[in-house]
Amino acid sequence: MRRSREELDKMRKAGKVVAEMHEATRAAIRPGVTTMQLNEVAEEVLAKRGARSNFLNYHGFPAVICTSPNDMIVHGIPGDYRLVEGDIISIDCGAIVEGYHGDAAYTAGVGEISDVARRLIEVTERSMWAGIDQLVIGHRLHEVGRAVQKVAEAAGFSVVREYVGHAIGTEMHESPQVPNYWPGTPGPTLKEGMVFAIEPMVNVGSYDTYVLEDGWGVMTQDGQLSAHFEHTIAVTADGPEVFTVA
Ligand code: MG
Ligand code: MG
Repeated sequence: MRRSREELDKMRKAGKVVAEMHEATRAAIRPGVTTMQLNEVAEEVLAKRGARSNFLNYHGFPAVICTSPNDMIVHGIPGDYRLVEGDIISIDCGAIVEGYHGDAAYTAGVGEISDVARRLIEVTERSMWAGIDQLVIGHRLHEVGRAVQKVAEAAGFSVVREYVGHAIGTEMHESPQVPNYWPGTPGPTLKEGMVFAIEPMVNVGSYDTYVLEDGWGVMTQDGQLSAHFEHTIAVTADGPEVFTVA
């Protein structure tokens, strides 16, 4: 779906709130802090900006961010887990402003982290930017996944298959989906005003996953690390415009 200038303005505002949630949670990440405390930091930003949460109560999700440490890929429920030195933690944030959604995620290290963890974070973020670079008028959508996959696999990592990016606007998750791998078909042609959340999830080991008994936390099946980066981006005449940045 193509968004008008007025709609894109509202999505820009939502994106700024999400970027502020990133800044605030990132500044709070340290050994000893609980994932619930990070959720509270994000709640304060939403309240301060008068924004609504698109995560809270989404199919019953009980918080405003997802916190997914180490071998958890996505959708972790904030709770009493206390970060320890050497962890990596993926934080996914979202906000609604004037009915329009923003959605973005990052993975950060807690203090000193292993070489493989640092490389995983660097490669996952780079794979996201390679995907974002494909959001150009006239390109085919699934070039995004092809670009993401190329970066991740060149580094010896794997791309999660069961969870993907998505169009976004008046709902957080709109059609079409955006796979982070080449799905075998080129997909729709990109047009001005389309908006997508590009969000690679990259694993050190295999891409196989399972879901925790809480029905939310998605884990790597082999117990190895996973990272997740995401931005909300519009296709514009000037190229991709990232909304979820400060
Ligand atoms: Mg997200
Ligand atoms: Mg998303």
